[in-house]
Amino acid sequence: MRKTRKFDSIEKECEWCHNKFEATWKYRKQRFCSKQCMYDWRKNENWEKLECLECGKKFKSRKNDRNWVSGKKRMFCSQECNRSSEYKKDKLRQFFTSNKNPRCSVKVKNSISQTKLKKYGDKNYNNHYLTGMELMFHFLENQMD
Ligand SMILES: [Zn+2]
Ligand SMILES: [Zn+2]
Repeated sequence: MRKTRKFDSIEKECEWCHNKFEATWKYRKQRFCSKQCMYDWRKNENWEKLECLECGKKFKSRKNDRNWVSGKKRMFCSQECNRSSEYKKDKLRQFFTSNKNPRCSVKVKNSISQTKLKKYGDKNYNNHYLTGMELMFHFLENQMD
C-alpha cells in the first residue's frame, strides 16, 4: 500500500480522462492531469450537441458558430437539411411578410415579384418554389442600400 509521502499533495481526478493524479497543494485547483487533457477538454468545450430541426439527428456545432445574419445557432445538421427545411422557409416567409419587420417593405415584396417575373415569367409564381436562400438574398439586397 502506497502512502502519501508529502501531505501537501492531494489526489485529484482528471476532468477529461478521469485518471487519478496527484497535485501539490499549490496546484490543488488543477483540473487536468496533463496539458494535453486540458487542450482536448477545451476543444470539446467549444462544441455543443444540437438536434437538427429537419431530420432530428444530433449533431455537433461550435458554440460560437452563429448565423452571420440572424446571430442564431445552427439548426440543421447539414446543408441538405438546411435547404429542404420547411420550418426555415416558413420562418423566412413569416419574416418577410410580417408587418412587424420594418425592413419588410413593399420594396422587398416588389423585388421578389420582379425576380419571379424575370426568372419564371410570372410575378405571382408560387412562393413554395422560392427557396430560403433566394429570400435571404432579397433581404440582404434590401439591407445594403
Ligand atoms: Zn487527463
Ligand atoms: Zn438533419
